[in-house]
Amino acid sequence: MSIETFYTIAMPYCEQLEVRRTIFSGGKGPRVAVLSGIHGDELEGLYVCHLLAAWLEQLQQSNPDGLLGTVELYPALNTLGLDTLTRSLPVYETDLNRAFPGSPAGPLPKRLSAAVMTALEGAALVVDIHASNIYLREIPQVRINQEFESRLVPIAKNMNLDLIWLHSAATVLETTVAHSLNSSGIPCLVVEMGVGMRITPDYCRQLVAGLLATWQQMGVLSADLVLPETGHTPLIADDSNVHFLNAQTSGMFVANASHWTDVHRGELLGTIVSPFSAELLSEVRSPVDGILFTLREYPLVYEGSLMARVMTRKGSRP
Ligand SMILES: [Zn+2]
Repeated sequence: MSIETFYTIAMPYCEQLEVRRTIFSGGKGPRVAVLSGIHGDELEGLYVCHLLAAWLEQLQQSNPDGLLGTVELYPALNTLGLDTLTRSLPVYETDLNRAFPGSPAGPLPKRLSAAVMTALEGAALVVDIHASNIYLREIPQVRINQEFESRLVPIAKNMNLDLIWLHSAATVLETTVAHSLNSSGIPCLVVEMGVGMRITPDYCRQLVAGLLATWQQMGVLSADLVLPETGHTPLIADDSNVHFLNAQTSGMFVANASHWTDVHRGELLGTIVSPFSAELLSEVRSPVDGILFTLREYPLVYEGSLMARVMTRKGSRP
């Protein structure tokens, strides 16, 4: 195992900004990578990297031949954002995941993006882990642009996650790391799970099991290794079966239903109340029979704020 700096730039005063990766090298098998912390307020992926490093260190001690390829962990791409609890890249106030594929002569966000693209050249699979944001809690899922569906869905089905959400090409941002990698022929899956500024250890362990199983199938890990148990089969969502619940009034949202449960048409999922009085400003009811897979974590809402997403099971009618 080695920790290596793959990008350095001098800070305006005297420090150096260094962005690091952890490399586990085994045999000549495929090379895979895990990215996280591209948004500085999303921490679930950092814990996934820790769990993977712990598993791989143990493997290298107990069975040095078990690693047939190379695993690279990039836990903290937006180092400045993570250090200062900022989602975007501080100073530039730029979303780092809107600066790809970058350019080596541009401003810092572009340079860093270009360095990440260069570092990932030749990878057989990249997984970019996101943790929603501080407002919404998500079940463990992969989000896939339909443009790359045929290549990515078969991989995603083995990742031990609970949802594959297919996005139509029109709604996809082309300046993300995933789109840039997929466009250049390197398969990249975007995982969303949990909530910003927190970790959800069960979700992290679930994804670790899926990553290890996927790497074993690819020949990164020896076929005879015993891996953590998997068993999650993903539901499939697309534009046709996801319902968005947006706030009808501003106020304070209080959930009635639990995240990731079956809900029924007309069921009360939450209320929006006034902090000034006893007034109930609006009720939030499920429009369909389905699964409550996104739920608001941060209570204050403006009219129009997203509070929940409910998905009908494919094949069933609302
Ligand atoms: Zn993110």
